[in-house]
Amino acid sequence: MTIGHEYVGEIAALGSGVTGLTVGQRVSGEGHITCHHCRNCHNGNIQWCRDTVSVGVDRDGAFAEYVCIPQENVILIEPSLPEDVVAFFDAFGNATHTALMFPVIGEDVLITGAGPIGIIAAAIVRYAGARRVIITDVNDYRLELARKMGVDAAVNTAREDLPQIMKEQGLTEGFDVGLEMSGNGAALSQMINSMRNGGKIALLGISNKPVPMNMNTIITKGLTLQGIYGRRLDNWHQMSYMVQGGLDISPIITHRYHYTEFEKGFEAMNSGRSGKVVLDWTAKRED
Ligand code: NAD
Repeated sequence: MTIGHEYVGEIAALGSGVTGLTVGQRVSGEGHITCHHCRNCHNGNIQWCRDTVSVGVDRDGAFAEYVCIPQENVILIEPSLPEDVVAFFDAFGNATHTALMFPVIGEDVLITGAGPIGIIAAAIVRYAGARRVIITDVNDYRLELARKMGVDAAVNTAREDLPQIMKEQGLTEGFDVGLEMSGNGAALSQMINSMRNGGKIALLGISNKPVPMNMNTIITKGLTLQGIYGRRLDNWHQMSYMVQGGLDISPIITHRYHYTEFEKGFEAMNSGRSGKVVLDWTAKRED
């Protein structure tokens, strides 16, 4: 099964020189192929590799029955983990990386952007012990999906007043932690304005244009802003263990198709009325 460049399957064949893996093992794959030689690779921060190559972007990806990756990128997947959830461990990994960047236990967390990754992040920070989890979007379908995943408030900022909802939720000084997951400049500004002094923001959302921001507010509030790219390798272990520990993110799956119906999958994603779309890559059905 796969969605985009995300996938779970079995090892079909091994290249010469591969050790420690066997054909038939259940696996997924880290989508960033890194150089192993730069300063960040040497200190274990592969997410900051200066020469990273992205599977499905810079080289052939997983919209295929087979995908070829270096053995260092192969992640063993325990049989107990549900296949349709492991199918989006790539995005779950982005959410985990961002959500666990800063401590959230007992903290009030704002997430801007209730796309699949924002909603998964909401479930993670809830699981990790946040006090209040508030998510914003301008899309009611997605806000409803976020409510089903257990947020305290899902706010449509096109017509609702975030400061009022913060008050109703018992926030007095602002959010402790912000997770920017929309890539939208207005959402980021709103986040900066809604943080408490000394708050911490993890930025995952990518914008297709430069985003202006209020530097003086960042400075006078003493905010920390941390960019997030891809996943840390240990996020793969955290994901498996969170799922085995009871974190259920399966409600984020809203559509399932056989891979031959991939156009319907793209239609669902482009409509904005979807969470995660899973494609089934088993042999073509006869019907
Ligand atoms: P998505 O596009 O499905 O979701 C983004 C959501 O933001 C949408 O639901 C949209 O309606 C919402 N939004 C738009 N304007 C808003 C506003 N003013 N306030 C609040 N919400 C608003 O994306 P996704 O798949 O959930 O991914 C989240 C973001 O992370 C995207 O920007 C994506 O490009 C980015 N991303 C970054 C990395 C990385 O490594 N940094 C990896 C994967 C995805």
